[in-house]
Amino acid sequence: MAKIQDIRKRTQRTNDTRSLSQIKHIVRHHSATDTGDFDTFWRHWNGTNGWGTGGYHEIILRDGTVQLCYDPNEITNGIKNYNTPCYHICVVGNGSFTEAQEKAWDERVAYNMARLNIDVDEVKGHKEMPNSNTACPGIDMNEVRDRIKSDIKPIEGTYTVKPGDTLWGIAQAHNISVDTLKKLNGLKTDLIHPGDELVVSDKSNSKPSYVGKRVESKHNGTLRFYSKASWSDSHVAGHLKRGYGFPTIVSKVKVGSGYQYKVKNSKGDTYYVTASNKYVRVI
Ligand SMILES: [Zn+2]
Repeated sequence: MAKIQDIRKRTQRTNDTRSLSQIKHIVRHHSATDTGDFDTFWRHWNGTNGWGTGGYHEIILRDGTVQLCYDPNEITNGIKNYNTPCYHICVVGNGSFTEAQEKAWDERVAYNMARLNIDVDEVKGHKEMPNSNTACPGIDMNEVRDRIKSDIKPIEGTYTVKPGDTLWGIAQAHNISVDTLKKLNGLKTDLIHPGDELVVSDKSNSKPSYVGKRVESKHNGTLRFYSKASWSDSHVAGHLKRGYGFPTIVSKVKVGSGYQYKVKNSKGDTYYVTASNKYVRVI
């Protein structure tokens, strides 16, 4: 977890407030300085520009510390004449950022996407916004969005296999037998691989209803499926026509802001396909 420095009580403000449903974008900025924090930026915003409210809701310092500057219902001054729909996060730096900062960014953007109900495609860089002629945020936002999309979080009742794990060790850790673990996951051998998601809960009432079932496309066009838990074009493994699908759902994984089913085809090969009931049905 990133270190949080909550300074919201002492920052000054004169701007209006908004309701959270007015927020449509999370906007990434850089400070275009090598160092700095809220107080150094404030001298410029207030002292030079004469602003009564600062530029950003959050500032991620060089060491990865996150300064919480304003609540999301407050309108800050990140973009000229386009602040009411924006939640602004600034990463301190000039087109180059530390690993600790990117880790903190990933955490903060996931948290804010969830609480503000913002889709990954509405996570923008400053220069992608209207009225903006700037190099800010000094990073390729397509790469940033791809990273968000491939950020996989297992859902409750599942475990992601790590290097060195054995079925026996995982079964022990979750208080179930190796046989149950294999049965829950449709495993015919003891072979597991780092990155596999295993269902580890043996309570029949907590075993998700979709596990072991068939999933098929109900989409009129063609539906992409993937070689990895990812939404990235580069991981597309093929396309499903309406009525086509996979015989076995293994588990469900969170990928970016959405969910995918991990599935096996009739040969036992693993793929991933959207779990959105807008596009697929489970039968
Ligand atoms: Zn900016």
